Amino acid sequence: MLIDKYGRRFTYLRISLIDRCNLRCRYCFPINAKFLPMENILTADEIIRLGRIFKDLGITKVRLTGGEPLVRKDFVDIVEGLHSIGFKLNITTNGILLGKYIEHLKGKVEYINISIDTFSPEKYAFITRSTTKFFYTVMENLERALNSGFKMVKINTVVLRGFNDDEIMDFVEFVKDRQVSLRFIEYMPFYGNEWSPHKFVSINEIKSRIEKKYRLEPVKGYSDVSVDFRIPGFKGLVGFIGSISSPFCRTCNRLRLTADGHLKPCLFSPFEKDLRRLLRGGARDEDIKEEIIKAVYNKPFGHPDVDALLSKARENRVMFAIGG
Ligand code: SAM
Repeated sequence: MLIDKYGRRFTYLRISLIDRCNLRCRYCFPINAKFLPMENILTADEIIRLGRIFKDLGITKVRLTGGEPLVRKDFVDIVEGLHSIGFKLNITTNGILLGKYIEHLKGKVEYINISIDTFSPEKYAFITRSTTKFFYTVMENLERALNSGFKMVKINTVVLRGFNDDEIMDFVEFVKDRQVSLRFIEYMPFYGNEWSPHKFVSINEIKSRIEKKYRLEPVKGYSDVSVDFRIPGFKGLVGFIGSISSPFCRTCNRLRLTADGHLKPCLFSPFEKDLRRLLRGGARDEDIKEEIIKAVYNKPFGHPDVDALLSKARENRVMFAIGG
């Protein structure tokens, strides 16, 4: 039902529940990050109403993200509301508050992605601009999630040269005895996120470093964007998301809804459709559907190269405000 002018079909929606986060990751938050006024953040009822509308339009899979989705007080109500509509639900979280919610999520959430960029508590405190204490909490919650029967727990690791590229093999070896899907993610440029070509590590480089020691056998993994591999004798998978060096725009099936209710068809394009204005202006579901269909139809085909992304970065929202 949702199709763009290039014939791509959209079945996957990433909903940012809030732009606030309990961390300030350097690659995500500009130093002078400004948050949306709270009155602009969609209420749980508004999210669930939009959920129904998107379901009617053919969305089957929803990922809850942010900011940090778990800092929302009504997080459980939103999960229950969206689950009752019939979505396959997934969550991306930094894992700090996950322990509190694991029981609520069982049976409702299939995939949990936990972001961990380092195994060093000190480096964790540095990159997240927080404390070593959070590192231990996240690691504990990761192990709990792994033992809680979710379809798959994934680890998201953004690789930055000079920060954690020396830990690539530690990450790989971490999945040896754990049924977890590790994904190395290329560092993407956004306004004020300290991106530089010197810090960028391509997935090809990461892969060839791993291949010096291990044989990577291609497998069909658990994601549309990650290229996944099994290492003989390992329980977990190792995957690569090359948004910059190997963009997957041609097969893109995803849309984004920002915490303030803007539909964002493409991560790197500043184009947005304000659905909150429609919701709060008394629009009927049918009118909102029509606007969504039009916005999706006009989704840009792909994103430009890094230089163009950097020069236009100011026009786009930054990652925490889009919903990664
Ligand atoms: N707070 C949650 C978390 O930490 O997972 C969800 C939001 S966060 C924006 C979602 C994902 O985006 C995280 O895995 C994070 O590592 C990733 N991310 C943020 N900024 C990024 C960047 N510049 N390049 C690549 N990935 C980025």
